Amino acid sequence: MDLETLAQEIKVCTKCPLYRSRTHAVPGEGKTDAEIMFIGEGPGSAEDETGRPFVGESGKFLDELLSSVGFKREDVFITSVVKCHPPHNRDPLEEEIRVCTGQYLFNQIKLIKPKLIVTLGRHAMQTFFPQLRSISAVHGKAYKKAGQVYLILYHPAAALHQAGLKETLKDDFRKIIEILKQIN
Ligand code: URA
Repeated sequence: MDLETLAQEIKVCTKCPLYRSRTHAVPGEGKTDAEIMFIGEGPGSAEDETGRPFVGESGKFLDELLSSVGFKREDVFITSVVKCHPPHNRDPLEEEIRVCTGQYLFNQIKLIKPKLIVTLGRHAMQTFFPQLRSISAVHGKAYKKAGQVYLILYHPAAALHQAGLKETLKDDFRKIIEILKQIN
């Protein structure tokens, strides 16, 4: 199995009800051997229309954050917990997350073998750390679990709704560089 085969499977997936309302599934994109993997919540409507991750307003902010630490999209891998847009922007359901991550996200991680996984928002955080409840208490913190290093960040969309979080996210983003230096 390689990433492209997995992406082709994701595009025609019918394993959970989200396929019924999607336009395009969004497998994710970036470098196949990226050192850093960014994992969001799920495609929004701009992503559903295009089949590409983080191309709407939060994507623009993500690009800005990436360039603030000297990265381009092509240097990293960007994807989400679920690969299909939940209708009316509702949160993905536990069962949708369980099925989608088991089939796709966890296999993408195995293939890419990133040094660092950056979770964006509560759903991505809880996919790896179900015991963590409040992102406001742990954002900007790095964790190691089963040999994998994670950095927990707010979702860029949160900063678009709460202006104060923009600077927080920018500060937290700088930790990516420190953490990579420690890992390398
Ligand atoms: N939010 C996400 O979590 N993923 C996207 O692709 C876009 C917005």
